[in-house]
This record gives sequence, structure tokens and C-alpha cells, in this order.
Amino acid sequence: MSRFWSARVHALTPYVPGEQPKGRQLVKLNTNECPYGPSPHVLEAVRSAADDGLRLYPDPQSTRLRESLARLHGLTPDQVFVGNGSDEVLAHAFQALLQQDGPLLFPDITYSFYPVYCGLYGIAFETVPLDEALRIRIEDYRRPCGAIILANPNAPTGTAVPLSAVEQLLRDHPDQPVVVDEAYVDFGGESAIPLIGRYPNLLVVHTLSKSRALAGLRVGAAFGDAALIEALVRVKDSFNSYPLDRLAEAGAVAALEDEAWFQATRGRIMDSRARLERGLATLGFAVLPSAANFLFARHPDRAAGQLFADLRERGILVRHWAKPRIADYLRITVGTDAECDALLAALTEILGRDRA
Ligand code: PMP
Repeated sequence: MSRFWSARVHALTPYVPGEQPKGRQLVKLNTNECPYGPSPHVLEAVRSAADDGLRLYPDPQSTRLRESLARLHGLTPDQVFVGNGSDEVLAHAFQALLQQDGPLLFPDITYSFYPVYCGLYGIAFETVPLDEALRIRIEDYRRPCGAIILANPNAPTGTAVPLSAVEQLLRDHPDQPVVVDEAYVDFGGESAIPLIGRYPNLLVVHTLSKSRALAGLRVGAAFGDAALIEALVRVKDSFNSYPLDRLAEAGAVAALEDEAWFQATRGRIMDSRARLERGLATLGFAVLPSAANFLFARHPDRAAGQLFADLRERGILVRHWAKPRIADYLRITVGTDAECDALLAALTEILGRDRA
């Protein structure tokens, strides 16, 4: 704290990212990264972009990448926005679209960055409780509001709502901006991108951090009506004209072009997820149905905070929040089968030791 801080900085409650351990080798199942490296074409593209061209600024519009994303999703480039990770894209969406006269609605349990952006931009919000099974119930959003944001699949629960539910939400709120954060959609969710042509209030946000294994490159995107995209561009050009550097744009384009790598990798992760879910169930965990690259699991007679600490002691990092409604749960990123086996072996030992 310092007397030089602005009043706004004093009032902030920043987001706390999962631990990125330095030194000690840990099994890292805590931040929903991809357990496999990116497509080899990404590495080639980044290496060949690492030349004297770095003395020049990158394309402020990231035109190649936006064209590539537009092709992939059957859109036009003016329906595509890109930024430095989807966190930056979301931040711009909060400022450009989610700050309205009525309160912003989002679930009581969701990506914990949403209330942080509200604090940063002074946006009034109301949370809508998930149902007893920790699922989003679309009917519960039928109330006066200024805007809505949902993560689908939701985080940290991993559960998804079908496209029909998202469309219902859009029909219920034709006059409010609706943002759907699809960070995890490639692991079994249904994307709302096909609805963009019919709903000018819909913005869909994606990331290359998860299913393209590029969390370290920081590339995110938003898709929507050209007028919504223009709002994001206005914020970007009032904040940072060059959010994507030359290496990031080159790597991201190469990632989107490698469809074979993408399909194989997400398939492997979904197979490992099913395997891990079975393993956890065998150990007595209740696991929420997941359409993401992580599982949200609770043991009926073991405190999750203690399990988290016991796992950490054994070199395995997962995520735990000491927060209302979810304090009994661990969020476990789906790793390689070997990493999942290490987790299951450690849990077997922890649970067995206490039973003895
Ligand atoms: N949305 C959700 C729901 C997330 O879990 C994350 C990852 N923490 C993000 C967005 C941001 O991802 P990135 O900034 O790496 O694109």
C-alpha cells in the first residue's frame, strides 16, 4: 500500500492465477493448460518469424490471424477481434459492452475474473445461483438486467449447457449484450458461433490457450456482429494498438491451420478425461459431468482443502477454492495419462493412509 496509489487501485481486488511453480518438478494439474506441446508447425512459424522483422511493429489489426479465424468459423474478418489472451478480450468486452444501465448477470460460481473486471470498470453486477447440481439454469436469467456473461462450459464446474439454452437466453434478452466465454468449448461443448448471424447482441469469446496448447503465447479472440467487434476495436485502440506481437500472430495462424494436430490432441484429452473420471469414481469421488479439460470432484468424507495440501506435499498441484458452495471440491486439470495415474496413485495413498 502507498499514498501514491489512486483511489481506484486501493479499491481493487485482483484475480489470483493458479500457481506457476519455479524449480521443483511438480505434476501440474492446476491451471487447465494442455499437457501436450503445440503443433510443431507453430514452433516452426514462431522461429521463422524471429528475425530482423522484430524491429518493426506488428500489424495493429492482426489481419492474417483474423482472416484465418474468420475462415475457420465461416465468418467475415470484420466479425473477428483478437487480443493478448482471452483475458484481455474479456476485459475489453466488459468495458465496451457489459457496462450498461442495468446490472450485469453471471453465475454465482464461474470464472472468478468476472467480478474483478466489474471492480476495475465499476460495473454493477448480480450473481445468479447455479442449481443444486451446480448447473446453469437459463430460466433463472429471466429478470431485468443490463447485460449477461456466461462461461460455457462453465468454470470451475466444467458443466455445459446445450446450444438451445444459449439461444433461449438470446431470445429472452434481445436488447442486452450477451457474452459467451467458450474457453473450453473444444472439449465437448457446443459453440454459439453459428448463432452470430441471427443475434446481433451475441459475442463469443475463444482462446488458443487450452485446445491449441498456446497458453504461453497469449492469444484470444471474440466473434460477433461487426458493430460489437467495432466496440472492442475502439477500446483496444484506446488502450494498446499492438496487443499481439509478430511471434504470437505467426504462431496462432500456424496453430489454426493444423487441423490434424487439433483433432488428435483434443481427442486424447477427452479420452484421458473419461479415464480419470472413472479412476476418481473408483476412489469414491463424486465428479461433475465435464465438457472441459478439467474435472470438478468432491470426496464425500474428506475435506478438499486437506486433500489439496496432501497432494501438494506429494508434488501434485490441483486447484481448491475456500469459497461458499465449492469448498468441498477440487478442480483437476486433465493431464497426460501418466500424470493422471500419478494423481490417482497419490490419492489412493492419502485416502488409504487415513482409513488405516
Ligand atoms: N475464460 C475462462 C473461463 C478461463 O478459465 C480462462 C483461463 N483462466 C480464460 C478465459 C482466460 O484464458 P486466456 O487468457 O489464457 O485466453
